[in-house]
Amino acid sequence: MSANPTNTSDVRGDRVVTNSTGYPYNDPFATQRVGQHGPLLMQDANLIDSLAHFNRERIPERNPHAHGSGAFGYFEVTDDITDICGSAMFSEIGKRTRFLTRFSTVGGEKGSADTARDPRGFATKFYTEEGNLDWVYNNTPIFFIRDPSKFPHFIHTQKRNPQTNLKDPNMFWDYLTTPENQVAVHQLMILFSDRGTPASYRHMNGYSGHTYKWSNKKGEWHYVQVHILTDQGIKNLTNDEAVEIAGKNPDYCQQDLYENIAKGNYPSWTVYIQTMTEEQAKKLPFSVFDLTKVWPHKDFPLRRVGKMVMNENPLNYFASIEQAAFSPANTVPYQEPSADPVLQSRLFAYADAHRYRLGANFHQIPVNCPYASKFFNPVIRDGPMNVDGNFGNEPNYYASNKQYQIPNQDRPIQQHQEVWNGPAQPFHWATSPGDIDFVQARDLYKVLGKQKDQQEHLAYNIGTHVAGADPEIQQRVIDMFSRVDEGLGANIRKEIEKNASAPTAKI
Ligand code: NDP
Repeated sequence: MSANPTNTSDVRGDRVVTNSTGYPYNDPFATQRVGQHGPLLMQDANLIDSLAHFNRERIPERNPHAHGSGAFGYFEVTDDITDICGSAMFSEIGKRTRFLTRFSTVGGEKGSADTARDPRGFATKFYTEEGNLDWVYNNTPIFFIRDPSKFPHFIHTQKRNPQTNLKDPNMFWDYLTTPENQVAVHQLMILFSDRGTPASYRHMNGYSGHTYKWSNKKGEWHYVQVHILTDQGIKNLTNDEAVEIAGKNPDYCQQDLYENIAKGNYPSWTVYIQTMTEEQAKKLPFSVFDLTKVWPHKDFPLRRVGKMVMNENPLNYFASIEQAAFSPANTVPYQEPSADPVLQSRLFAYADAHRYRLGANFHQIPVNCPYASKFFNPVIRDGPMNVDGNFGNEPNYYASNKQYQIPNQDRPIQQHQEVWNGPAQPFHWATSPGDIDFVQARDLYKVLGKQKDQQEHLAYNIGTHVAGADPEIQQRVIDMFSRVDEGLGANIRKEIEKNASAPTAKI
């Protein structure tokens, strides 16, 4: 068994089998009845204990990111970045910090197929001595929206039609081709390239997508984006391979991750950052807070930080993965969120989802405990399922006759960063996309042109997907991608026409 307190199991040493209050069974399968074959008795507390608990085994699945896999590992610093970030986890080369990563798909339900065309979540919780740090990232460096009020609206279109209970290409593409939502075109180019169907979690990258603000111990700060690049190399499935595997082995990526770690073939990733000053941000042709844009490598080169190695499977999937609660609000000194509005809304929404799924004391579940730092705040107490002793007889306020240590109070933080000014006002960012919203999609199309068959696969993957939609929606899709490249639009049209005569599998 692991010495790691986040990955343990509490099995009774003598292995005596009991009911949930510790009463040893005489016979786990005997039921109390009137005579041997008569009706059951209400007094059979063991049967009721077992059936009632069974009814409560499931907790609400995440909405979205319901379906996922994960494992533990360690992060090791390989390069000094103390000029950029003062967090203790980066303090010296060679330093290791334990982490948990959960990979996921986004739109599908908990039992859905691992190989679905979808972005992949790449969420990591680092157990640092300064508290738990969560990097709640994706395998795409950008996202579909930059305006957080769009999120529930958008996600609904990727899920099921309320009447047919089916995934619905009309809903899917109606949303995405509505002029003001075409800011998603860059992300759609990635999603419908073969990177939309990774061959395994081991063979994909993770990206912060959002801009963060990191500062050093002197209070100097930079905008930062994080890239976690796979050491196994990028490997993708074609659309048809992904469809076939979804049918034959829907748990393909779970199996791949578990079995590789179990046999000691530990996957690893190299962590890089891109940094930008406030002055550089002012000169960008787009907002530094726009989640639909990347920072070009030639202007903002990758700087290596460390490596992540996944070397320990969870002992129990439910305990460590289903109950894992990630939130971008979980941060450590010297790593701050930027004003990216989608990130700002996630700071609220993720922890709120866990309060709903797991309860107000979700941070007491071992996998979520900041065990390397320890939690002490006697004002945060009580609530359902309080299992950590509730700070015993500590006063439930900061009592004047007690000592409290506040070591962080002189740390330079946000007052040294941007200054915001202006009235409170409604602001709807995502107006009709300007040409700037197509520039990086065009750049990516050129990148795909250098990889064998990738422009053709993009057209095929889009054409196959949109073939099930109404002709008017299909035309909107062709028009939108023609704005990226005329040839791409024409090829999508050809693929739609081919599909009309011979329907092809799609996911
Ligand atoms: P470069 O020309 O320096 O490099 C191309 C980038 O594209 C590499 O990061 C590569 O990833 C990535 N890539 C290759 N195929 C795909 C795909 N199917 N889906 C997503 N990414 C892919 O990049 P630039 O910085 O000049 O940007 C050009 C375009 O590359 C951007 O518009 C963006 O779409 C894409 N990109 C850029 C990133 C960035 O942070 N600048 C990050 C990821 C994508 P790899 O190195 O793993 O091969």
